[in-house]
Amino acid sequence: MIEFDQVQKSYQVGDRAIPALHATSLTIETGEVFGIVGHSGAGKSTLIRLINRLERPSGGRILIDGENVTDYDAGELRAYRRRVGMIFQHFNLLSSKTVSDNIAFPMKLAGIYSRQQIEERVTELLARVGLTDHARKYPSQLSGGQKQRVGIARALACRPTILLCDEATSALDPQTTQSVLRLLADINRELGLTIVLITHEMDVVRRVCDRVAVMDAGEVVEMGPVSEVFLHPKHPTTRDFVFESENIDRDEMQEDLQHASGRILRLTFKGEATYKPLLGHVARESGVDFSILSGRIDHIKETPYGQLTLSLVGGDLSRAMAALEAADVHVEVLR
Ligand code: ADP
Repeated sequence: MIEFDQVQKSYQVGDRAIPALHATSLTIETGEVFGIVGHSGAGKSTLIRLINRLERPSGGRILIDGENVTDYDAGELRAYRRRVGMIFQHFNLLSSKTVSDNIAFPMKLAGIYSRQQIEERVTELLARVGLTDHARKYPSQLSGGQKQRVGIARALACRPTILLCDEATSALDPQTTQSVLRLLADINRELGLTIVLITHEMDVVRRVCDRVAVMDAGEVVEMGPVSEVFLHPKHPTTRDFVFESENIDRDEMQEDLQHASGRILRLTFKGEATYKPLLGHVARESGVDFSILSGRIDHIKETPYGQLTLSLVGGDLSRAMAALEAADVHVEVLR
């Protein structure tokens, strides 16, 4: 659906060209939720503003549904942008308009819908985002989560095929974040909408995204299915994001490991393997004794996963490792 072919972007400031995105090629498939994670200044907003062509690439081509949008003129751009909805960190609602009027606004602006069509669509969208009872309120009378729901309804008004989310949950508390992410996941599933989401939180990626690109200094440094990137991060920047999202203090972890004896392994279970009573079985079979240094069970989108750090002593270690690997457990030797 979205294809970047060697796309690059520099901003001209005075007589200097500031590189924001180095030559980047990526493909985002129809109907997927694609996350872009990176620190401030990594080039995430630039990438997203290139997708809706608020920015023009300095080089390369952008194809949407196979069509080259790189050289669109003003008229073509207006029509194209109706196919791309966007939601923002600070919601960007019009404070002098009611919830209903905010949602109706892009349809009025497009000038191609009748009054009845607009009314029907607003009613439908209010129900979709759970705000039917708030139609006549003003943004100042809403909570942050409700404001973002208005933002989502407004973004969907002209029936876009792509939804861009710019740090859409960064201004929300954890519980509200969860409900907004759930709404986005429902919309993705029910409408088949392609969602591109930029964030500085790996946790957001873990909850809703199918694939992720990690950005650093204008470059995509790692890209792949979320389960792969999240559970087996390769690039140092990705590792930082994953550790941060799991609240792991690496110095503390190193210190803890020094007190443990024997071999130290990190086991990663995914899907069915997460719930199997495997450790006791492996310990009995191999005669290895283990103690758990740390562990967690959580979900990547709907797939459960578990990670355990163990210290192992005695017994037949290679037999234990072979048994774990045979049960689809990823084994990483930390020491
Ligand atoms: P992110 O969204 O990851 O924080 P941005 O895409 O906003 O990153 O920025 C990438 C780089 O481009 C930064 O160095 C930033 O300072 C620069 N940049 C972004 N927008 C502009 C602009 N309009 N003019 C000049 N430089 C810009």
